[in-house]
Amino acid sequence: MQGMKLPDTERWSERAVVVRGLNPGPFTGPGTNTFLLGGGDRPLLLDTGAGKAGYLPLLEKALARECGTDAPGDIVLTHVHADHIGGAPDVVERFGPRRVLKFPWPERDRHFDVEITPLVDGEVVRGDGVTLRALHTPGHAADHLCYYLEEDKVLFTGDVILGAGTSVIPTEGGDMALYLRTLERLLELDVACIYPAHGPRIPAARAKIREYLDHRLQRERQILAALDSGLRTVEAIVARVYAETPEFLHHAAGQSVRSHLIKLEREGRVARDSSADGPDRWTA
Ligand SMILES: [Zn+2]
Repeated sequence: MQGMKLPDTERWSERAVVVRGLNPGPFTGPGTNTFLLGGGDRPLLLDTGAGKAGYLPLLEKALARECGTDAPGDIVLTHVHADHIGGAPDVVERFGPRRVLKFPWPERDRHFDVEITPLVDGEVVRGDGVTLRALHTPGHAADHLCYYLEEDKVLFTGDVILGAGTSVIPTEGGDMALYLRTLERLLELDVACIYPAHGPRIPAARAKIREYLDHRLQRERQILAALDSGLRTVEAIVARVYAETPEFLHHAAGQSVRSHLIKLEREGRVARDSSADGPDRWTA
Protein backbone atom coordinates (compact mmCIF):
# COMPACT_ATOMS: atom_id res chain seq x y z
CA MET A 1 0.00 0.00 0.00
CA GLN A 2 3.06 2.25 0.28
CA GLY A 3 3.08 4.98 -2.36
CA MET A 4 -0.62 4.50 -3.21
CA LYS A 5 -2.18 7.88 -4.02
CA LEU A 6 -5.82 8.74 -3.37
CA PRO A 7 -7.53 12.14 -3.32
CA ASP A 8 -7.64 14.02 0.01
CA THR A 9 -11.43 13.91 0.05
CA GLU A 10 -13.74 11.55 -1.79
CA ARG A 11 -17.47 10.86 -1.69
CA TRP A 12 -18.01 7.09 -1.48
CA SER A 13 -21.80 7.13 -1.24
CA GLU A 14 -24.78 9.38 -0.64
CA ARG A 15 -24.15 8.97 3.10
CA ALA A 16 -20.34 8.75 3.36
CA VAL A 17 -17.53 11.18 2.56
CA VAL A 18 -13.90 10.18 3.10
CA VAL A 19 -11.52 12.79 4.51
CA ARG A 20 -7.94 11.51 4.45
CA GLY A 21 -5.89 11.92 7.63
CA LEU A 22 -2.88 13.26 5.66
CA ASN A 23 -0.63 10.74 7.39
CA PRO A 24 0.70 8.58 4.52
CA GLY A 25 3.34 5.96 5.37
CA PRO A 26 4.40 2.32 5.08
CA PHE A 27 1.68 1.18 7.52
CA THR A 28 -1.03 3.74 6.79
CA GLY A 29 -0.87 3.64 2.96
CA PRO A 30 -2.33 6.89 1.61
CA GLY A 31 -3.21 7.85 5.21
CA THR A 32 -6.08 6.98 7.55
CA ASN A 33 -9.57 7.24 6.09
CA THR A 34 -11.87 9.32 8.30
CA PHE A 35 -15.56 9.49 7.36
CA LEU A 36 -18.30 12.10 7.54
CA LEU A 37 -21.55 10.15 7.78
CA GLY A 38 -25.13 11.22 7.23
CA GLY A 39 -26.84 14.46 6.34
CA GLY A 40 -28.09 17.35 8.46
CA ASP A 41 -25.84 19.97 9.93
CA ARG A 42 -23.92 17.66 12.28
CA PRO A 43 -22.70 14.57 10.39
CA LEU A 44 -20.99 11.88 12.47
CA LEU A 45 -17.21 11.74 12.24
CA LEU A 46 -15.81 8.18 12.18
CA ASP A 47 -12.12 8.18 13.19
CA THR A 48 -9.99 11.31 13.30
CA GLY A 49 -6.57 10.54 11.79
CA ALA A 50 -3.28 11.08 13.56
CA GLY A 51 -3.64 14.76 14.46
CA LYS A 52 -1.72 16.13 11.44
CA ALA A 53 -1.72 19.93 11.07
CA GLY A 54 -3.49 19.94 7.68
CA TYR A 55 -6.36 17.70 8.77
CA LEU A 56 -8.62 20.30 10.43
CA PRO A 57 -8.61 22.69 7.43
CA LEU A 58 -9.29 19.72 5.15
CA LEU A 59 -12.14 18.55 7.39
CA GLU A 60 -13.65 22.05 7.41
CA LYS A 61 -13.46 22.24 3.63
CA ALA A 62 -15.15 18.84 3.28
CA LEU A 63 -17.87 19.83 5.77
CA ALA A 64 -18.61 22.99 3.77
CA ARG A 65 -18.39 21.51 0.25
CA GLU A 66 -19.81 18.06 0.75
CA CYS A 67 -22.17 18.53 3.69
CA GLY A 68 -23.04 22.23 3.54
CA THR A 69 -22.24 22.72 7.19
CA ASP A 70 -19.46 23.93 9.49
CA ALA A 71 -18.96 21.28 12.17
CA PRO A 72 -19.19 17.52 12.71
CA GLY A 73 -21.44 15.94 15.33
CA ASP A 74 -20.41 13.08 17.60
CA ILE A 75 -17.10 11.32 17.00
CA VAL A 76 -17.03 7.53 16.78
CA LEU A 77 -13.70 5.67 16.86
CA THR A 78 -12.64 2.23 15.68
CA HIS A 79 -9.77 1.83 18.16
CA VAL A 80 -7.12 3.51 20.25
CA HIS A 81 -4.19 3.37 17.79
CA ALA A 82 -2.77 6.87 17.32
CA ASP A 83 -3.62 7.14 13.61
CA HIS A 84 -7.33 6.77 14.49
CA ILE A 85 -7.81 8.59 17.81
CA GLY A 86 -4.86 11.02 17.52
CA GLY A 87 -6.88 13.80 15.86
CA ALA A 88 -9.78 13.65 18.35
CA PRO A 89 -8.43 16.22 20.87
CA ASP A 90 -7.89 18.74 18.01
CA VAL A 91 -11.40 18.19 16.65
CA VAL A 92 -12.95 18.72 20.09
CA GLU A 93 -10.82 21.80 20.68
CA ARG A 94 -11.73 23.31 17.32
CA PHE A 95 -15.46 22.53 17.26
CA GLY A 96 -16.27 22.37 20.96
CA PRO A 97 -17.32 19.52 23.27
CA ARG A 98 -19.12 16.57 21.70
CA ARG A 99 -19.28 12.88 22.50
CA VAL A 100 -16.26 10.73 21.61
CA LEU A 101 -17.53 7.16 21.46
CA LYS A 102 -15.37 4.03 21.51
CA PHE A 103 -14.98 0.66 23.21
CA PRO A 104 -13.23 1.60 26.46
CA TRP A 105 -9.61 0.58 27.05
CA PRO A 106 -8.72 2.87 29.97
CA GLU A 107 -4.98 2.12 30.22
CA ARG A 108 -4.52 3.09 26.54
CA ASP A 109 -7.26 5.75 26.26
CA ARG A 110 -5.65 7.86 28.98
CA HIS A 111 -2.72 8.69 26.65
CA PHE A 112 -5.09 10.87 24.63
CA ASP A 113 -6.51 14.11 26.00
CA VAL A 114 -10.14 13.38 25.30
CA GLU A 115 -13.08 12.14 27.38
CA ILE A 116 -14.43 8.79 26.18
CA THR A 117 -18.11 7.84 26.14
CA PRO A 118 -18.17 4.02 26.30
CA LEU A 119 -19.65 2.12 23.38
CA VAL A 120 -19.96 -1.66 23.52
CA ASP A 121 -20.90 -4.52 21.22
CA GLY A 122 -24.32 -4.21 19.63
CA GLU A 123 -24.95 -0.58 20.57
CA VAL A 124 -26.28 1.75 17.91
CA VAL A 125 -25.15 5.31 17.09
CA ARG A 126 -27.55 7.38 15.01
CA GLY A 127 -26.88 10.35 12.77
CA ASP A 128 -29.12 12.05 10.22
CA GLY A 129 -30.16 9.14 7.96
CA VAL A 130 -27.47 6.79 9.28
CA THR A 131 -27.72 3.93 11.76
CA LEU A 132 -24.32 2.60 12.84
CA ARG A 133 -24.16 -0.66 14.76
CA ALA A 134 -20.97 -1.19 16.78
CA LEU A 135 -19.39 -4.65 16.58
CA HIS A 136 -16.67 -5.55 19.05
CA THR A 137 -14.02 -7.08 16.81
CA PRO A 138 -10.82 -7.69 18.83
CA GLY A 139 -7.67 -9.24 17.36
CA HIS A 140 -5.82 -6.33 15.78
CA ALA A 141 -6.49 -4.36 18.98
CA ALA A 142 -8.40 -5.37 22.12
CA ASP A 143 -10.79 -2.40 21.85
CA HIS A 144 -11.49 -2.63 18.12
CA LEU A 145 -14.99 -1.81 16.91
CA CYS A 146 -16.19 -2.28 13.34
CA TYR A 147 -19.34 -0.39 12.40
CA TYR A 148 -22.19 -1.69 10.26
CA LEU A 149 -24.09 1.02 8.41
CA GLU A 150 -27.54 -0.52 8.22
CA GLU A 151 -29.00 1.71 5.48
CA ASP A 152 -26.24 0.77 2.97
CA LYS A 153 -25.08 -2.62 4.34
CA VAL A 154 -21.62 -1.09 4.46
CA LEU A 155 -19.08 -2.40 6.96
CA PHE A 156 -16.45 0.00 8.31
CA THR A 157 -13.65 -2.41 9.15
CA GLY A 158 -11.06 -0.06 10.68
CA ASP A 159 -7.78 -1.98 10.73
CA VAL A 160 -9.37 -5.46 10.73
CA ILE A 161 -9.49 -5.49 6.91
CA LEU A 162 -7.50 -3.03 4.79
CA GLY A 163 -7.91 -1.74 1.25
CA ALA A 164 -4.59 -3.35 0.28
CA GLY A 165 -2.19 -5.78 1.96
CA THR A 166 -3.06 -7.43 5.29
CA SER A 167 -3.41 -6.32 8.91
CA VAL A 168 -0.63 -6.62 11.47
CA ILE A 169 -1.61 -8.50 14.61
CA PRO A 170 0.55 -6.83 17.26
CA THR A 171 1.94 -8.88 20.14
CA GLU A 172 0.89 -6.05 22.46
CA GLY A 173 -2.91 -5.76 22.54
CA GLY A 174 -3.40 -8.06 19.56
CA ASP A 175 -4.60 -11.68 19.64
CA MET A 176 -4.50 -14.03 16.66
CA ALA A 177 -7.18 -16.43 17.93
CA LEU A 178 -9.56 -13.53 18.57
CA TYR A 179 -8.70 -12.06 15.17
CA LEU A 180 -9.72 -15.27 13.39
CA ARG A 181 -12.95 -15.36 15.39
CA THR A 182 -13.58 -11.73 14.42
CA LEU A 183 -13.17 -12.54 10.71
CA GLU A 184 -15.58 -15.47 11.07
CA ARG A 185 -18.10 -13.20 12.75
CA LEU A 186 -17.82 -10.62 9.95
CA LEU A 187 -18.52 -13.39 7.41
CA GLU A 188 -21.97 -13.85 8.96
CA LEU A 189 -23.03 -10.28 8.16
CA ASP A 190 -24.87 -9.24 5.02
CA VAL A 191 -22.21 -6.83 3.70
CA ALA A 192 -22.49 -5.08 0.34
CA CYS A 193 -19.20 -3.19 0.58
CA ILE A 194 -16.29 -2.76 2.98
CA TYR A 195 -15.02 0.72 3.80
CA PRO A 196 -11.58 0.15 5.39
CA ALA A 197 -9.56 2.63 7.46
CA HIS A 198 -6.74 2.54 4.92
CA GLY A 199 -6.88 2.37 1.12
CA PRO A 200 -9.80 2.08 -1.31
CA ARG A 201 -13.22 0.56 -0.65
CA ILE A 202 -13.74 -3.17 -1.22
CA PRO A 203 -16.90 -4.12 -3.17
CA ALA A 204 -16.29 -7.91 -3.02
CA ALA A 205 -16.75 -7.94 0.75
CA ARG A 206 -17.33 -11.62 1.47
CA ALA A 207 -14.54 -12.73 -0.87
CA LYS A 208 -12.14 -10.36 0.89
CA ILE A 209 -13.07 -11.61 4.37
CA ARG A 210 -12.56 -15.21 3.18
CA GLU A 211 -9.25 -14.23 1.60
CA TYR A 212 -8.10 -12.76 4.93
CA LEU A 213 -9.11 -15.94 6.79
CA ASP A 214 -7.37 -18.16 4.21
CA HIS A 215 -4.26 -15.99 4.32
CA ARG A 216 -3.92 -16.31 8.12
CA LEU A 217 -4.46 -20.07 8.01
CA GLN A 218 -1.87 -20.34 5.23
CA ARG A 219 0.63 -18.35 7.32
CA GLU A 220 -0.04 -20.66 10.26
CA ARG A 221 0.74 -23.70 8.12
CA GLN A 222 3.91 -22.03 6.81
CA ILE A 223 5.05 -21.22 10.35
CA LEU A 224 4.49 -24.83 11.48
CA ALA A 225 6.42 -26.05 8.40
CA ALA A 226 9.28 -23.66 9.25
CA LEU A 227 9.42 -25.09 12.79
CA ASP A 228 9.37 -28.62 11.37
CA SER A 229 12.36 -27.79 9.21
CA GLY A 230 14.33 -26.73 12.29
CA LEU A 231 13.89 -22.95 12.41
CA ARG A 232 13.54 -21.79 16.01
CA THR A 233 13.26 -18.00 16.25
CA VAL A 234 10.70 -15.46 15.03
CA GLU A 235 13.42 -13.74 13.03
CA ALA A 236 14.37 -16.93 11.18
CA ILE A 237 10.72 -17.79 10.53
CA VAL A 238 10.06 -14.30 9.11
CA ALA A 239 13.09 -14.57 6.82
CA ARG A 240 11.67 -17.83 5.43
CA VAL A 241 7.92 -17.19 5.39
CA TYR A 242 8.08 -13.50 4.38
CA ALA A 243 10.91 -13.88 1.85
CA GLU A 244 8.75 -12.14 -0.79
CA THR A 245 7.84 -9.22 1.51
CA PRO A 246 9.99 -6.05 1.46
CA GLU A 247 12.43 -5.99 4.35
CA PHE A 248 11.08 -2.79 5.94
CA LEU A 249 7.90 -4.77 6.74
CA HIS A 250 9.74 -7.65 8.42
CA HIS A 251 9.54 -6.17 11.91
CA ALA A 252 5.75 -5.88 11.60
CA ALA A 253 5.60 -9.38 10.08
CA GLY A 254 7.49 -10.60 13.16
CA GLN A 255 4.66 -9.26 15.33
CA SER A 256 2.11 -11.31 13.40
CA VAL A 257 4.34 -14.43 13.46
CA ARG A 258 4.74 -14.10 17.22
CA SER A 259 0.97 -13.71 17.58
CA HIS A 260 0.52 -16.93 15.58
CA LEU A 261 3.05 -18.72 17.82
CA ILE A 262 1.33 -17.52 21.00
CA LYS A 263 -2.00 -18.84 19.65
CA LEU A 264 -0.40 -22.21 18.79
CA GLU A 265 1.25 -22.34 22.21
CA ARG A 266 -2.13 -21.84 23.92
CA GLU A 267 -3.51 -24.67 21.78
CA GLY A 268 -0.65 -26.91 22.94
CA ARG A 269 0.70 -27.25 19.40
CA VAL A 270 4.06 -25.49 19.91
CA ALA A 271 6.36 -24.98 22.89
CA ARG A 272 8.44 -21.97 23.86
CA ASP A 273 11.88 -22.01 25.48
CA SER A 274 12.77 -18.69 27.11
CA SER A 275 15.56 -20.06 29.30
CA ALA A 276 18.55 -18.94 27.22
CA ASP A 277 19.70 -15.38 26.60
CA GLY A 278 18.41 -13.89 23.38
CA PRO A 279 15.07 -14.46 21.65
CA ASP A 280 12.55 -17.17 22.57
CA ARG A 281 13.12 -20.50 20.82
CA TRP A 282 10.05 -22.30 19.50
CA THR A 283 9.46 -25.97 18.66
CA ALA A 284 6.47 -27.79 17.17
ZN1 LIG B 1 -4.56 -0.05 14.28
